[in-house]
Amino acid sequence: MNEVKKEMNNFIQKIINDDSDSGKWNNRVHTRFPPEPNGYLHIGHAKSICLNFGIAEKNKGTCNLRFDDTNPVKEEEEYVQSIIEDVKWLGFDWEDRLFYASDYFEQLYEFAIQLIQDGSAYICDLSGDEIRNMRGSLNEPGLESPHRTRSVEENLELFHKMKNGEFGNGEKVLRAKINMAHPNLNMRDPVMYRILHAKHHRTGNDWCIYPMYDWAHGLEDSIERITHSICTLEFEDHRPLYDWYLNQLDIYHPQQIEFARLNLNFTMMSKRKLKQLVDENHVSGWDDPRMPTISGLRRRGYTPKAIRNFAEDVGVTKRDSIIDVVRLENALREDLNKIAPRVMGVLDPLKVVITNYPEDKTELLKAVNNPENPDAGKRDIPFSKELYIEQSDFMEDPPRKFFRLGPGREVRLRYAYFITCNEVIKNKSGEIIELHCTYDSETKGGSAPDGRKVKGTLHWVSVNDAIDAEVRLYDRLFLNENPGETDDFLANLNPESCKTQANAKLESSLSNPENITYQFERNGYFIKDEKDSMNGKLVFNRAVSLRDSWAKFFKNNGK
Ligand code: ATP
Ligand code: MG
Repeated sequence: MNEVKKEMNNFIQKIINDDSDSGKWNNRVHTRFPPEPNGYLHIGHAKSICLNFGIAEKNKGTCNLRFDDTNPVKEEEEYVQSIIEDVKWLGFDWEDRLFYASDYFEQLYEFAIQLIQDGSAYICDLSGDEIRNMRGSLNEPGLESPHRTRSVEENLELFHKMKNGEFGNGEKVLRAKINMAHPNLNMRDPVMYRILHAKHHRTGNDWCIYPMYDWAHGLEDSIERITHSICTLEFEDHRPLYDWYLNQLDIYHPQQIEFARLNLNFTMMSKRKLKQLVDENHVSGWDDPRMPTISGLRRRGYTPKAIRNFAEDVGVTKRDSIIDVVRLENALREDLNKIAPRVMGVLDPLKVVITNYPEDKTELLKAVNNPENPDAGKRDIPFSKELYIEQSDFMEDPPRKFFRLGPGREVRLRYAYFITCNEVIKNKSGEIIELHCTYDSETKGGSAPDGRKVKGTLHWVSVNDAIDAEVRLYDRLFLNENPGETDDFLANLNPESCKTQANAKLESSLSNPENITYQFERNGYFIKDEKDSMNGKLVFNRAVSLRDSWAKFFKNNGK
């Protein structure tokens, strides 16, 4: 996509351009990414990260990383650490601007006292259920709390007691005094503080009252002097409430801008449901390579660049839509095609014996490291009498269009020689265990001096030099296109989302692989699994196949 089109794709950039023209923020652009540390980040968060940090970067502004840690019950330090790692890995830098909402607890408390003093907030003794039941509906006004008319003095005293732990969980709340008949339900005396005798991951037992998200969020942005508070569409209806709080307190007022969240087909992005997958062991962890989490994608072999390009490519809109997950995969293919070193790996090996090749000879052949990058150079790969090829590259009785190996057929071994299959060796149960072939020594490098052609080129690995590995091939975690739409999402788990090839054979240059994604020629892109490779066992994950195998699926299903 060209620059102009990218710009057009981003209505937020247009707002910033207008603000810059009108001098609204004195040319300041200050955004933030405000995750709640109650789970690992997923690809939807990645979009928000790219947007917030990207907008700041493009406009010479700054972006904060802020943990919105106002709920002590669900939040954990493990999540904080994973979020820090993920944002860094994506390539963004918050410099010294790492903040926690919990650092503002004292300030938020002071703000609440200010509202009470102004007569704009009151202590309410109703239970959560009662408050909900009295809220009314879109067609009906709500009912006012009997405690709405408490005096300022009484409210201050009760709030003080709430803070000092003199009441039990749920006994009292602090509510904003707005309007129980307001057409926007969020404005019907929303709760600002609740009592929760729970230990917070950072403030410990210092507090037993905790601010509600809607009370805290806009104030956090104000405290940090954010210019553009970018959030997802579901907060549009909350904006009047944030505005009300800021106006009532008469403090710095950021501009909230809503955009449509990223939805991907075949992908579930609810943190609660992802946590359930982890807790119930449907996946091996938050970083399972099938998870849509940033840590899962990283382990799967995704690159930061692919994810950033994808975020840029899908753009920013005001309208909800579902993006085809193939676009994410294609962004990865596009990046890896340019940078991934090419190697050969046989996933499902079949032994080939070159009967006319000398017994103890090994010769080194030159292989191109990356045809897309001339600077990547060449490497030596060993060739010898016994080789592995892919089981699927041989058919005893091949159909006409099968251009790979069959009895009496000649094919090219990549970077090596032409070989012809002469004999198929089987075990007692009739399974093919070995092929006997001859090679043409005149065809070194892959072409025949007499000009004869072969249609198939196979990848291979020399038996003596092969590296043993387990290779994991992934497929969609869910079978239906919109797994998040039902609560019964577990019923849609794809039982074949991970297939293991336990006896893969890799070329010798992979004896000590780097932490990068390689292209195994013809088989896709693979990365070493740093977690499960241990005690001499080498495990590789397939990030993505070379082509989109689901394109065929959709074609066949009339899409
Ligand atoms: P929840 O609030 O239910 O725990 P969440 O996904 O909104 O889940 P947050 O930690 O609040 O989690 O999200 C941090 C930021 O990421 C928010 O600003 C949110 O708008 C943004 N975000 C979350 N999901 C998406 C998505 N699918 N697409 C774009 N942005 C998202
Ligand atoms: Mg949220």
